[in-house]
Amino acid sequence: MPQVVNYDGSISASPQQLVIAKSVQDIQNAVRDTATYPSPVRAMGSYHSLTPCASSDGTMIDMKQMNQVISIDAGNLTFTAQGGLQMIDANKALRAKNLQFMLNIEIGNMTVGAAACCHSKDALDGIEFGQVSSYVTAMKWVAPDGSLAEASDASDPGLMRLMRSSYGLLGIIYEVTFRIKPIEALHFTYLPRPVDELTQAEVDSLLDNSEGLICWTVGRTAVFQQRHKIQHPGILGALQAAVRRDLWNFQGAFLGRTIDQFMQKDVRDAIEQGNFDFQQLLYETLHLAGGITLLAPDKTIDYHETPPEARYAFTFWAFPRGQWLETYRAYLDWADQYFKQTGFRCNMPLGAYHVRKDQSSLLSYTNDGEVFSIDPIHAPTDQNAWNTFLKGFNDFASQRGGIPLLNQSPFVTQAQVQRAFGDRWQQFSDAVHSTDPTGRFLNPFFQALLSS
Ligand SMILES: Cc1cc2nc3c(=O)[nH]c(=O)nc-3n(C[C@H](O)[C@H](O)[C@H](O)COP(=O)(O)OP(=O)(O)OC[C@H]3O[C@@H](n4cnc5c(N)ncnc54)[C@H](O)[C@@H]3O)c2cc1C
Repeated sequence: MPQVVNYDGSISASPQQLVIAKSVQDIQNAVRDTATYPSPVRAMGSYHSLTPCASSDGTMIDMKQMNQVISIDAGNLTFTAQGGLQMIDANKALRAKNLQFMLNIEIGNMTVGAAACCHSKDALDGIEFGQVSSYVTAMKWVAPDGSLAEASDASDPGLMRLMRSSYGLLGIIYEVTFRIKPIEALHFTYLPRPVDELTQAEVDSLLDNSEGLICWTVGRTAVFQQRHKIQHPGILGALQAAVRRDLWNFQGAFLGRTIDQFMQKDVRDAIEQGNFDFQQLLYETLHLAGGITLLAPDKTIDYHETPPEARYAFTFWAFPRGQWLETYRAYLDWADQYFKQTGFRCNMPLGAYHVRKDQSSLLSYTNDGEVFSIDPIHAPTDQNAWNTFLKGFNDFASQRGGIPLLNQSPFVTQAQVQRAFGDRWQQFSDAVHSTDPTGRFLNPFFQALLSS
């Protein structure tokens, strides 16, 4: 039986059939032929999710060879591609024509098919929306009975809203159209602030005055990375983008894991607390240097060749903006307490993404308003310790009204998603059950989460 393993080796699947789709007919044949291709049938992009949302022990359809650009319409500013194309390759094709995505997401290896129907987040390019699927204007898919279907904002906005968070449960997407725009440059500044001095008024002002914002936390220092738009990137742009990519691709996780493995415990604790920290030094230096400038598409990172020792994992829970500061401080205290009890602490900076209100998809985590997230990031040396931490963090986050992402928040429970998405979870569950009554696309991961 073939084995499929995710980015950091934490998730694997052994489907009885692994179909490498080369055409729409390949997908249709597999979906229709229930004898040869056992259920559940799951579409698979790059298998970069942090949950087993794409996994099946029946049939998995690997979309990576359906990776053609179909059209770039510079007049109407649209981009159409097959579902298996990765964002990084789409990005290169657009850049050759001085165009870019509306949202240049960090993760270059996400396929456009997954981007169209899964949760995603970006805080630095999300001037309007921070979710990639919100910029999808049309898609085509193979339905659970093997028939072809399509929708667009023009033809059926209601169906588009459902499909944008369908996770391959309502159809296997083989073609996606996005809104695009002319290429632009970005400038990021870095403002370090002691966590205990922050006030709600200061956080509000930072959020209100940024085009995009991420807060990185090292020890008890919060570093606010703010996006500002500029006209030209300057000659340092490409170089600075390369340094930044290298940090995500290699240095950050490598450093975290090395600290975990080789340092004596007291030195390690001091480093992880930020008493002496490379990351903090870096952020201070970036602050003093006035920030960095790059072209927006350079924000997207290709994790393809990242060596195993430099890979990292994370989780993401979104909180209503007005509740964030209190929850964030409570989280830092909770993490300290957790460390005292278990000896486990995350070895990379904590992330927090600001994402604006967006009702484009049924399961949008910003449906009810702006959010600011809390994202523990870690380069695991002990997978069990990280998994146990994630479950504890889920309880913490759910009790405080957080919202998880189904592909990026491992180990969430049915009660947690019901609480997070409320009535919309029932609507989603009903739509899945009525569109796919035999459960052709329903894997155990979603079966455990959906409401009856
Ligand atoms: C190192 C790293 C960094 C990351 N950074 C970010 C980030 O900055 N922002 C962010 O939002 N995410 C990030 N992610 C998470 C990742 O982008 C998402 O989990 C994304 O869904 C992965 O895309 P994929 O193509 O690998 O999809 P998969 O993991 O293969 O599939 C995800 C889901 O989509 C379904 N699916 C896939 N293709 C199709 C299709 N053609 N039709 C229908 N359904 C389909 C699958 O069945 C599954 O349910 C990161 C992940 C890693 C490992």
